Amino acid sequence: MKKLVILDRDGVINFDSAQFIKSPAEWKPIPGSPEAIAKLNQAGYRVVVATNQSGVGRGLFDMDTLNAIHEKMHKTVAAAGGRIDAIFYCPHAADAGCDCRKPKPGMFQRIAAVYNAELKGVPAIGDSLRDLQAAARAGASPILVLTGKGEKTQEEGDLPYATEVFPDLSAAVDHLLGNGKN
Ligand SMILES: [Mg+2]
Ligand SMILES: [Zn+2]
Repeated sequence: MKKLVILDRDGVINFDSAQFIKSPAEWKPIPGSPEAIAKLNQAGYRVVVATNQSGVGRGLFDMDTLNAIHEKMHKTVAAAGGRIDAIFYCPHAADAGCDCRKPKPGMFQRIAAVYNAELKGVPAIGDSLRDLQAAARAGASPILVLTGKGEKTQEEGDLPYATEVFPDLSAAVDHLLGNGKN
């Protein structure tokens, strides 16, 4: 049984946009993030993504476009020697009342079921409070990165108990793998 890491997408793997990432052209990797995913794989981790994509539910882009964006993400990570095992997404609008949109823990629970894994101690890395809340509710270990909305999230505070904070995914992964630079 491989170890798991759960990543948010926007603001962690790729640059975020207040206008949503609505096309493959708008999906641009944060430097170092694809390589960080490769390092996790090399250390024996399965990397899965859990991402809110309410732009689908709002009609800003359709499923074909979301799939094309994810195809670009897979190719970019593969070019760095890495692999994202699976992408779990919530396509629902914020007012749809689904149980998968973070901060609800539904996607995390689904990941636990699909991988038949305990989430206790599983690192869950995000840039928004709702990522950390979903992780904590599912029993995973929340990690905040300061890319994307991360700085604002840190300023606003109220982070779940024992949330760890790192500048970006690359630094978080170096810490997880015991390769801290200082
Ligand atoms: Mg995010
Ligand atoms: Zn949902």
